This record gives sequence, structure tokens and C-alpha cells, in this order.
Amino acid sequence: MSPTYVYSPRYALEWGEHVFPVEKYALVAERLAQKGITLVEPPPATDAELERVHTKAYLARLRELTRTPELGYPEFEVPVTERVIETFRLATGGTILAARRALEEGAAANLSGGFHHAFADHGEGFCLINDLAVAIRQLQHEGRIRRASVIDLDLHQGNGTARIFADDPSVYTFSMHQEHNYPRKERSTWDIGLDDGTGDEEYLEHVRQAVPKILAEFQPDLVLYQAGADPYREDKLGGLALSIEGLAERDRIVYRECRARRRPIAVTLGGGYARRTEDVVAIHANTLTLLAESP
Ligand SMILES: [Zn+2]
Repeated sequence: MSPTYVYSPRYALEWGEHVFPVEKYALVAERLAQKGITLVEPPPATDAELERVHTKAYLARLRELTRTPELGYPEFEVPVTERVIETFRLATGGTILAARRALEEGAAANLSGGFHHAFADHGEGFCLINDLAVAIRQLQHEGRIRRASVIDLDLHQGNGTARIFADDPSVYTFSMHQEHNYPRKERSTWDIGLDDGTGDEEYLEHVRQAVPKILAEFQPDLVLYQAGADPYREDKLGGLALSIEGLAERDRIVYRECRARRRPIAVTLGGGYARRTEDVVAIHANTLTLLAESP
């Protein structure tokens, strides 16, 4: 069975000039459509879903900012408008839907998501709502899962996710990232901080060791895989040195291990700031198509 791919034409964040290439979402969707893959549209996440992770005060603050654009957005690196909030709601609905489908079908992906720098009470690093955390809490609330693992292989540490689940033994957060880069580090269940310039060989060896260990020891009911494209050697914000093929191999290892242990996996795209946007699109498209192909 082909995995479910979740996408909305309204995923593009309206940020104006920004280092985050928001056009990547539509370009990735186009690649999948060309392969004859059907995309499913998500409903936006509801207030009740967001409140399973985010404080009411923070959500009220976001709403207030949409009404006062003249104040600017001092605490964020992105504009906070109605449309931007709606996009984050949709992306979060997308991760919830992908997680649901993963439980039913074994694997699914959201063509957005992975906003792992959002905390319960504030946003940072281009992230306003932590879709990964909301999806886990929502499915736990519905009784569909008890234990979840986040395997975060974005270049940046999943600091928001780590903090949100810091005191929650039902969620295992794993983050492998470039140590000397944004953000200020929180403590995940397991962190691997890589040296600048780490390349395919060393990186993949860590993935081969870590993923089976987490799955075997923790036995999660669901894996959320944050497959950032920013460990790529041409990334403008990153300092790791993976090749496009190395990143594809990273994905294959994660998929193979989840499948071998019958762990449902939902994929989010995370960051990607390569000099050439077509490289970001190629890396994400590989991540998504490999999910359908891996034996
Ligand atoms: Zn990143």
C-alpha cells in the first residue's frame, strides 16, 4: 500500500523575503504529482488540539499580534499574521493526519511540519506551533498511542520538542544535530551533537547505531521522523557536510529499521536552506518517495 501524503496548497507561509524557501512546499508537491501520487488535504488543527501543548496565554498572544501588525513581531523572526497562523494550523493538522494514517497504514508523510523550535509558551526559529508535539499529545489523548519517539535528524536541535516532553517518560526525543549552531540546547532523551563539517560516513554510522537502539529499547507505538534537509553540505544556515545521496541513505536506514520492527512512522519535512532551492526540493522529494519504495 502506498503511504498517505498530506499536503495543502495553502502550506506556503506568506513571509515575504525570507531565508526560508516557502515555495519548496508546492515544488515538492508538484514532484509527487508528476509521479502520479495522490495528495490528501488536512483540516486545520483546532484550538483544543493546540491547547494540548501550547499555553492559552501564548495562543492568545499570537491572536493579539495578528491584530496589531504595526507593533512588529519583536519576539519572532517571522511575521505573525492571520494567514501565517492559519498556515501553522494547517501544517499541524497535516502532521496529526499523517500520524493517524501512519497508525492505520504503517507509514505516512506531511509535506510540511517539523516546527520543532516552538515551545509550549513561545515560538522561535521560524516556528510558532509545535506540530510534532501536538500530534503526539492528540493521539495520546484519543488513546490511539501510549508511547511515541521523535527521531529528529534536522540539522538543528529539536529544542522545543525536547523541552515540551522533558518530564514526560511516554515520549522519547532523539535529536542529532550540529552542536555549534542555533539553538541554545535543551536536553532531549538522547542528543548527539555533531562537529562542524561532519560528512556522510560518520553521520550514517550514528544513524545505523541509534535508530535500532531507540526502537528496540523504547518500543514506541509511533515514530515521528523529522527529516530536515539542512544537514546538506550546501546549506546556508548549516555547517554539516552531507551529500544528497547521504541524506537519502539516512532516510532509507530510518525506514528500514521502522519497518523491520513494525513501528508506524510519520514523516515531516523540517528545514532546508540550500543555496539552490532545487536541491532542497530534491532532498525532500527523495525523503518522500523512498518512504513508498523502501522494502
Ligand atoms: Zn533546521
